[in-house]
Amino acid sequence: MKIHKHKTLQRIGSCKMCGQCCKNLALEIETSAEPNGHSKAAAAKIEKQKEINKYIKKGYKDVEASRVTWLKGNDFKFTLTLTCPHLKGNKCVIHSNKGYGNKPDFCRKFPEYGVDRPKNCGYRFKRVLC
Ligand code: SF4
Ligand code: SF4
Repeated sequence: MKIHKHKTLQRIGSCKMCGQCCKNLALEIETSAEPNGHSKAAAAKIEKQKEINKYIKKGYKDVEASRVTWLKGNDFKFTLTLTCPHLKGNKCVIHSNKGYGNKPDFCRKFPEYGVDRPKNCGYRFKRVLC
């Protein structure tokens, strides 16, 4: 019998509670631009601004958007960088007051492989055989 071994990535390490990931959030947004009489570029600009406004309304600070990368058809992606307003003294107020399960989805998943991490993050990814 042949046993096939696959390489997979395992997250190792632990959180140093440095708060850097919450101060430098980088969210990759994938969305679509329906031209509706505008050019594709103008429609993408409108969609981008909607996303920026959404996070500003939620209290996020230093919200900036990268350039657009076009995917298929009218689909495109860009990165939003922002500072979370829920960080107080390197502690997450949502986590402290409401529990881990109430944090935004992207915080509960962080750090996933392929998502940028601050340079001194306590986590890294290692290839393992399974
Ligand atoms: S909600 Fe909490 S864990 Fe998520 S970015 Fe803000 S402070 Fe960090
Ligand atoms: S950057 Fe890494 S070590 Fe620092 S708080 Fe975020 S997850 Fe923890």
